[in-house]
Amino acid sequence: MPDSDILIIGGGIAGASTAFHLAEHGRSVALLERGEIASEASGQNMGGLGGSGWGNVPDLQAYLTMGSLEIFKRLQIDMGYDMEFRLSGSLTGIHTRDQYDFIQDRVLSLKSNGFEAELLTPREARAIEPEANPELLGYMYAPTRGQADPVKSTQAFAHAARNVGATINTGREVQSIEIRPDGTYAVQTNRGEHNSETLVIAAGAWCDPVGRMLGLQIPIVPIRGQMWATESLPPRIFHDISSAESSFTWNSNNGADDSTPPDLTHKGDKRFARHLYGRQRKNGEIIFGGDRQSLGYNLTPDATGIETNRGHASEIVPLVADLPIARTWAGLMPFSMDGSPIIGKIPLRDNLHIVSGLASSGFGRGPMAGKLAADYIHTGHMPHVLSESDPARCVTEA
Ligand SMILES: Cc1cc2nc3c(=O)[nH]c(=O)nc-3n(C[C@H](O)[C@H](O)[C@H](O)COP(=O)(O)OP(=O)(O)OC[C@H]3O[C@@H](n4cnc5c(N)ncnc54)[C@H](O)[C@@H]3O)c2cc1C
Repeated sequence: MPDSDILIIGGGIAGASTAFHLAEHGRSVALLERGEIASEASGQNMGGLGGSGWGNVPDLQAYLTMGSLEIFKRLQIDMGYDMEFRLSGSLTGIHTRDQYDFIQDRVLSLKSNGFEAELLTPREARAIEPEANPELLGYMYAPTRGQADPVKSTQAFAHAARNVGATINTGREVQSIEIRPDGTYAVQTNRGEHNSETLVIAAGAWCDPVGRMLGLQIPIVPIRGQMWATESLPPRIFHDISSAESSFTWNSNNGADDSTPPDLTHKGDKRFARHLYGRQRKNGEIIFGGDRQSLGYNLTPDATGIETNRGHASEIVPLVADLPIARTWAGLMPFSMDGSPIIGKIPLRDNLHIVSGLASSGFGRGPMAGKLAADYIHTGHMPHVLSESDPARCVTEA
């Protein structure tokens, strides 16, 4: 007899949102998390959200980014969770003439497709972000980007899920999975067995090890992201801050090969691109990060990369050049090998779903990924936008 209709493995933003939306549909759902809610990437990220708008013909990226923004608004504004969410907008600094031409084309193309973006002069940028470097060539402004606190937000999804009837189990590490003759799943954890008819893998950078318990190969690899923070300061930075350098580099060569997903900052040990994102938290810390390196399950921050990132940040917000680094940390992002999300039904087993592959922007895309996954499981019909993320394209027998 199953303990729940649906069992979700992983208590990050993807699993917590899936649990919340399934429980809202009235389904019997339980979640298994080996640590605490938000103990991995969903609690360690920069907290940047959003995209460029819905566009004239919304695709999966528009659904995931803009749909998630609506879900953040719903939990904080309508349901009363303090997630430190705000629609701050973002500024992307432009360092060179080539980058300027590239971003100018991108803004024109975005606008002509119904998205929202503006090219600002440094003077215009400094009117909304006074610490922005006046020496840069310009800034791209994206008004539909926001920010929120990763831990508070992910915990809010788990709390909201519990409130509508989901069972949230922390400290339960899934160690093996058996498919019973009647087709139900028997999931062994360090603290006993859980049974269900439907299984959802939302294990982030650990999807492949979990998939192997079912004899499957899931092409998701752990990519280390690392961050640093200053001491708390009075409010000085108001937008999400990034740089045009990485998108310019990756546009001509995304670095992908058989063993490397696209859009990393390193190839092996060698730096390939500089990438940057940051903001000032509500507690006053200024935080920045950007590196994306394939190092297995290594979670130790690397000081050289942090210094490179700080140099990059100070080219856009010069005030950070003189601020000491108070702490550093790292987390593991779930990158699929082709760079696209993997959300939907895995046809190789009965009643098996996955919601992952959200890479470097899963905090901002996870809430809607979870909702779309929940809608699919509940109705049995694939939401049409999930054809872009179909697991059938890449999940194979191990
Ligand atoms: C430094 C850094 C900065 C980032 N910045 C941003 C950003 O600004 N904006 C953005 O949108 N995204 C950002 N990201 C990416 C984002 O954090 C991730 O894409 C997202 O959190 C992935 O969510 P998830 O739920 O899929 O995975 P996770 O949060 O990793 O959750 C998976 C969970 O599964 C659990 N699990 C694994 N194996 C088992 C098992 N066997 N049994 C039980 N539980 C298990 C893990 O403990 C974990 O809690 C950043 C990531 C990092 C590391």
